[in-house]
Parts: sequence; C-alpha cells; structure tokens
Amino acid sequence: MKSAKVLRISVTDRCNLRCIYCMPEAGVALAPHGEFLHYEEIAMVARAAIRNGIRRFRITGGEPLVRRGIAALVALLARLGPDDLALTTNGLNLAGAAAELKAAGLLRVTISLDTLRQERFEKITRRIGFERITAGLEAARRAGLGPIKINAVVIRGVNDDEIEDFVRFAAREKVEVRFIELMPTSGLSPECKELGSWRPALFVPGREVRERIEREFGPLRPAEGADGVARVFEASNGARIGLITPVSEPFCGGCGRLRLGPEGRLKLCLFDKAGFDLKAEIRNRRAGTDEIAAFIADALARKATWDRGDLALLSSEMFKIGG
Ligand code: SAM
Repeated sequence: MKSAKVLRISVTDRCNLRCIYCMPEAGVALAPHGEFLHYEEIAMVARAAIRNGIRRFRITGGEPLVRRGIAALVALLARLGPDDLALTTNGLNLAGAAAELKAAGLLRVTISLDTLRQERFEKITRRIGFERITAGLEAARRAGLGPIKINAVVIRGVNDDEIEDFVRFAAREKVEVRFIELMPTSGLSPECKELGSWRPALFVPGREVRERIEREFGPLRPAEGADGVARVFEASNGARIGLITPVSEPFCGGCGRLRLGPEGRLKLCLFDKAGFDLKAEIRNRRAGTDEIAAFIADALARKATWDRGDLALLSSEMFKIGG
C-alpha cells in the first residue's frame, strides 16, 4: 500500500504573482538566496524522510518554477524512487518547463487557478499572464504530467460565481478541480487593501460549494482514487471535483504531511510557526542522513498529538511554506 505520509518541500519564498489573499502587493521581506537549502541538502532530508516511511514528495513555494534549475532537484528526488513526486505551480512558467520536468522524473502537477476569466485573473493575481497558464496546462498534458489537478480558492464576492464554470471546465479539460476554503493566512493582512483582514464574510464553506454544484448538476457521487486531504466526487457531466475544507471540517486527524520550508525549517503543519531548524543541524552541526532521519521521526511523533489551536486566531505565511 502507498504511504499516506507526505513531505511538502517549499523551495523558495519568491513568487511571480501577488494573489490578493496570499502575498501583499509590495511583496514581503524575502530571505537571501544563501539561506535556502541547496538541492543536495533537500535531497538528504528527502532520503531521511523515506527512512521514516514518507514516500511521497510535493515541491511547492513560493512559486517553485522561479527557482533556478528546479529540474535538478526533481532529478535528485526521483532517484530516491518515491511513490509520488508532484509539483504545485501557478502555471505561469510551466509551458517552458513541463517537458524538462517530466524528463527529470516529475510525475504530475497541480496548477493553482482561481478564475477562468482573464480580467479577473489580473485583479486576483495583480499580474498579467492568464494565457500562459492555459499554455502551461497544455504543455503539462503533452508531457504526461498527469493526472492534472487545478486548485481554486473560493472567495465570496471575488470568484464564487465561477463554481459552476469550473465544473464545466473540469469535464471539458479532463482535470480534477479542487475547491479550497480560504484560510486565515498572513496575506490576508490589514495591508491587503483589496480584501482587508481575515473576514468571515469572504469565506465560502465547502458545504455551500457542494450545494451550488448539486443545484446545477445534480447529486455528486463519491469518486474512486482519492488521495490526500480532498474529498473527491464525480458530477453528472463527468467532472472530477475535489473539496478541501480545512476550516469548516478540519482534517488534522488524517493529515500525514510534514513541511520543509525554503530555509530548512521542518514544520508539523501550515500553522506550526517555529518549526525545527534542520538547516542549522545540517550546516552547523554537520548532521547527516541518520541524524536528520531521527529529527523527522521525532517530528512525526510530535505531530501525532499536535493541536494547531483555533484556526480563526492563527496565521501562516502561505507564500513561504506553500499551500
Ligand atoms: N505558487 C504555487 C502555486 O500557486 O500553487 C505554490 C504555492 S501557493 C502558496 C499554494 C496554494 O496555496 C495555492 O493554491 C494558493 O491559492 C493557496 N493559498 C494561498 N493562500 C491561501 C489562503 N489564504 N487560503 C487558502 N489557500 C491559499
């Protein structure tokens, strides 16, 4: 059986979009490149993770495709023979990278896309480039980086009128569209003038997304082959739909994810503020695979009893640790 445990590896805090709910327009204080784990260091952490039964890796960011030579990391991870090796991207640079990533051993991609309308895309992301994402999706398909998933964060008054369009899109493009509940991340800060601070009024519960889909397309049927945190359904038009409900129906109990930040902090959860400084262990105390494996075992043990607290009172730097 495939391992349910996943290591999400964020490789940078840089991003080429400025999504209104994620990263402030003015950007954020970015870490110097030298602070990021090198690819060989990440591969060592991944090797240590495998010793702990973590056989699934997801590369994220920031935007992973803005970090130079990312295919080299993919190749290092692929060599470890994981059960899964996926990458989450905003898709802007995917068209030019898909074939190389596939050749390096990447198995599949998830593309984050909150709207199917160009004008709205520019409002949400505060950048241009909508058509590059369509090209990225095509290139990923051609390269065989599937099954392709699309992640859409649903925000009331911003894109919640597109839920039905996304269901049609999923059927037409043969991709799984996963609707994600908006979480109280640091991007939703008072400086975020478009949205203001975290406001329940922006939040659309997964239950409502489901009701809206069922009103238009009839009852959703549970689908086969779900993995991870999404509940996956099939709609009457053949669309594969995922619902990810971290706020209204937290899935902490079933969460098998550990997260490695770009600066080498190992976190139990999106909302684990401090994390454990693996980079210091690697660079200052010369920790090797055995020692790192012991730290990961310890993290897994702590995760078993981890209580993230009240989500409404929390904040995480999503642009850094990856969704
Ligand atoms: N740049 C990559 C991408 O776009 O997929 C990886 C990093 S991005 C931070 C990962 C995901 O986190 C995206 O799907 C994004 O929409 C999601 N995200 C960011 N802030 C969020 C929030 N407040 N609530 C829910 N999802 C959020």
